[in-house]
Amino acid sequence: LVRARNVHKAFGDIEVLKGIDLDVAAGEVVVILGPSGSGKSTFLRCINHLESVDQGFIEVAGEQIGYHLRKGRLNRMTNREIATQRSRIGMVFQQFNLYPHMTALQNVIEAPIGVHRQNRGEAVRYARELLARVGLAEKVDAYPRQLSGGQQQRVAIARALAIRPRLMLFDEPTSALDPELVGEVLATMRDLANEGLTMIVVTHEIGFAKEAADRVVFMDGGVVVEQGPPSEVLTDPKHPRTRSFLSRFI
Ligand code: ATP
Ligand code: MG
Repeated sequence: LVRARNVHKAFGDIEVLKGIDLDVAAGEVVVILGPSGSGKSTFLRCINHLESVDQGFIEVAGEQIGYHLRKGRLNRMTNREIATQRSRIGMVFQQFNLYPHMTALQNVIEAPIGVHRQNRGEAVRYARELLARVGLAEKVDAYPRQLSGGQQQRVAIARALAIRPRLMLFDEPTSALDPELVGEVLATMRDLANEGLTMIVVTHEIGFAKEAADRVVFMDGGVVVEQGPPSEVLTDPKHPRTRSFLSRFI
């Protein structure tokens, strides 16, 4: 479903991504680990074109992100085309970024109605179903300030799912939460993983990686240093940099 090849990205003189290669199959759950500043967030942002890549390319479902092929040549997409492409990818950030003046339900139906021009009745029906799925059936009419951090993040997950994405990106979705609220968000993500959703998750939650990931990717210094099944990468890392990174969690 996702194919990244030789992805480079620099901010000014700083080269953040130095040739990332990554494939993700449909239904696969990939956890990306790596030290701060290794380029994890930048890479996720490139996948849904919140950043453009300088070199290399990323394809999602056979479509190159940000470009299309016309008469044998690659052309930059228009902003509208980029928005359409992005609207098929769900993203959940560390900060939940809910609209504070909207209820949980209104937050979830906003994109389906506003961007996807869905019928309101159908959008509301599906939003209720999603909020129930993340355990918030009772909170559909609550405003973000009336919800705990974990509940807000689950609304954010429901909102990302509302566009029926073919791919979900999570960037440290639990790192802004109080420790006692982390578990409920990870449980929701584990359910989604079990349902066969394709997910790329940046997280420091090694336990989640062990239980839910099909593959663990370790990034450092803007490259993929090592990847494989969690049972190998997490318990018997081959690369010294992976080993020293993981030693912090033991
Ligand atoms: P963390 O674990 O701390 O979230 P990360 O692996 O997600 O780290 P990135 O956020 O991708 O790392 O950042 C990688 C490097 O790119 C950092 O040195 C950061 O300062 C730099 N960087 C990221 N975004 C920008 C930007 N918009 N402009 C300039 N530099 C940036
Ligand atoms: Mg980051």
